Amino acid sequence: MNFKEMFLVLAISLAITVTNAEYVSYDQYKVYKIVPSSDAEVQILLDVQKSNQYYFWSDVVALNSDVRIMVDPAKQVEFEKYFESVKIPARVVIQDVQNMINEQLQRPATRSSKYAWDYYLSLDEIFAWLDQVVADHPDVATAVTIGTSVEGRPIRGVKIDFKKQANPIIGMIEGGIHAREWISPATVTYIINEFLTSSDPDVKLMAENIVWHIFPVTNPDGYAYTFSDNRMWRKNRSTYNHTSCAMYGLSDDISNGIDLNRNFGFLWMSIGASDIPCAETFAGHVEFSEPESRAIANYVTTIKNEGHMVYYFAFHSYSQMVLVPYSHVAGSTVLEAPNYGDMFEVAIRGMDKLKAVHGTEYEVGTSAEILYPVSGSSFDWVKGVAEIPIVYLFELRDVGEFGFLLPPARIIPNNEEIMAGLIEMEKVTRRLGYYHISDGERVVVSFVLFALALFVAM
Ligand SMILES: [Zn+2]
Repeated sequence: MNFKEMFLVLAISLAITVTNAEYVSYDQYKVYKIVPSSDAEVQILLDVQKSNQYYFWSDVVALNSDVRIMVDPAKQVEFEKYFESVKIPARVVIQDVQNMINEQLQRPATRSSKYAWDYYLSLDEIFAWLDQVVADHPDVATAVTIGTSVEGRPIRGVKIDFKKQANPIIGMIEGGIHAREWISPATVTYIINEFLTSSDPDVKLMAENIVWHIFPVTNPDGYAYTFSDNRMWRKNRSTYNHTSCAMYGLSDDISNGIDLNRNFGFLWMSIGASDIPCAETFAGHVEFSEPESRAIANYVTTIKNEGHMVYYFAFHSYSQMVLVPYSHVAGSTVLEAPNYGDMFEVAIRGMDKLKAVHGTEYEVGTSAEILYPVSGSSFDWVKGVAEIPIVYLFELRDVGEFGFLLPPARIIPNNEEIMAGLIEMEKVTRRLGYYHISDGERVVVSFVLFALALFVAM
């Protein structure tokens, strides 16, 4: 190859790189709000969702639920005409999504030397912050890497262990499995900071009596991609299933990713997941196909042998809900999770305390009851396979006004109320006796107490 040819090859490959790395603009994209008021309207919306042509912000499509759909400027006329023809009101609630993205990226002009949750950190900044946390608390905090993402980024977090006792109570916190849900890592880093620095006796009790394993960004490739390329990215960045999405009028890049929260090996692909790579809820070609989901599951399996693992919390947005496992059950079948009643009570009491802080209301229930049935999620796997007793998925602020684009000024209020909720949940769990006996034993004890009560009553 002569110099001229080499230059040409270089120029072409550079052009390709630039094309691939192009930042996706949401200029003039609108978000519409639709509230289906009959089963027929729900079905129409589900069909529209299945067409994969528009971007459903909320996966929620249920009777009287608040459905937010983002629409490309080129498709807005067609979209509006269609909903007029089926006589379902579709109201524009966001005029220009890119505007709102730009606002969310704002950082205060003067910033304190320590991060104060007044803006959203990038992945590299979160890693640097974690390094600092470990350096500042060497006796208590240890850096942990549980695996490597598809693109080779570490899945990093901290282990917080104040007492170094044998057979401790253990809890794990998962953040950022869905890339665009930025409030999740912003909440999880805040929890780490509270556990390490708070002087509040309740927070200290929760931090010091439990060994915590906390991971702010379990989907690092996706999170980095929301900063560099596409703010609305949800999945990981696997190209294994790459295919054309032209038939849906979507960019092929949409197929470069698996929804990690549908990839876990518990009832995988049975409901509420897609086998189409162009879908936001694509579950992968096989359960646990992704290194990120395997890393989480392997780590849970490892630490549950190091003591008595009681807690697993996963943080998402948005909707203001606490989801109780299992996500595929509703009505009387919720009791497939043997301690559903306890989990429900713990969450309800926690959300009462949460509401007392800023008046924010959270709903509590299984996903199938208050959202939609789902399978293959991390928290259902933790409950159903790892058999951890107290397990939740939190859908943080808000209920759709800003959705994933929650303004930085709302990070702190969100975090304050979540801390209040968690503290109460820990208290109630402790009072219910979860620190002394295992889940299996609890069921036996409840049964014996029940039999005894019957005997006394007779
Ligand atoms: Zn999510």
